[in-house]
Amino acid sequence: MAQDEIQLVVDRLEAIYNHSIVALHGVSLTVRRGEILALLGANGAGKSTTLKAISNLLQAERGQITGGSILFEGLDVSRTSPAELVRRGLVQVLEGRHCFRSLNVEENLVTGGIGRGSSRAEITSDLERVYALFPRLREKRKEISGLTSGGEQQMTAIGRALMSRPRLLVLDEPSMGLAPLIVRDIFRKLKSLNQSEGLSILVAEQNSTVALQYADRATVLENGVAVLEGPAATLRERDDVKAFYLGESRVSTDGAPTHPRAAEPMAPAA
Ligand code: ATP
Repeated sequence: MAQDEIQLVVDRLEAIYNHSIVALHGVSLTVRRGEILALLGANGAGKSTTLKAISNLLQAERGQITGGSILFEGLDVSRTSPAELVRRGLVQVLEGRHCFRSLNVEENLVTGGIGRGSSRAEITSDLERVYALFPRLREKRKEISGLTSGGEQQMTAIGRALMSRPRLLVLDEPSMGLAPLIVRDIFRKLKSLNQSEGLSILVAEQNSTVALQYADRATVLENGVAVLEGPAATLRERDDVKAFYLGESRVSTDGAPTHPRAAEPMAPAA
């Protein structure tokens, strides 16, 4: 597969909850093989809904795709079960560092290999790989996950996803509730995996500062619509973008919010 080949295409995605609440009404984004794409947006912008749709998990939340399409390596996601998507290499770490709290760390990791259908030998070598990346998990491997720290639980959740041998790793707010040093450590490890193995990563974050530091490109959501996309390096420089879309709104002298698109447009999202 060529380096710049598009791996995931989300095209004008629309989604609702409970047959009525519109959560997305026009989200388009692409992930290229081997890149890190950050999905940014304020609270409630639609990041989690987009990611759940990408793993075909919306139904479990009484949600539904009502328009648009999602193709992962040419596969129509809406017609593929979540388990099959994992086997095909689309693996998600859900928001809130989901671990089986009553299992120990190693048992949690092993479930990722079982979900993929790995052999015993593959599970053994994949465990070594995860422990090499997160030495802390090796130390804690016999501890009950529910008793480990938030950072360790997040590492366990990521490690479990890696045990499924993802081709595209999707993460929903890995920084949530974690201390800044731990957040940086986790992002550094994700970046090193991306660089050493060419693993593609799609990461939704409210913490745009850290996400833009490690991502190659970013797509910004606002009220269920993708409004901007561009290289992370460009977005990093744009304080107005951050201020307008990602929380603190800046106000111009006439009292109206300063809109970055009016000033110096980046590529508006399709
Ligand atoms: P956050 O960072 O707070 O998770 P987000 O950008 O991920 O924000 P979503 O969680 O995708 O945003 O929410 C998008 C919209 O859909 C919001 O208006 C939210 O209230 C609504 N929503 C999300 N989940 C549900 C649900 N299970 N049932 C009904 N509405 C929902």
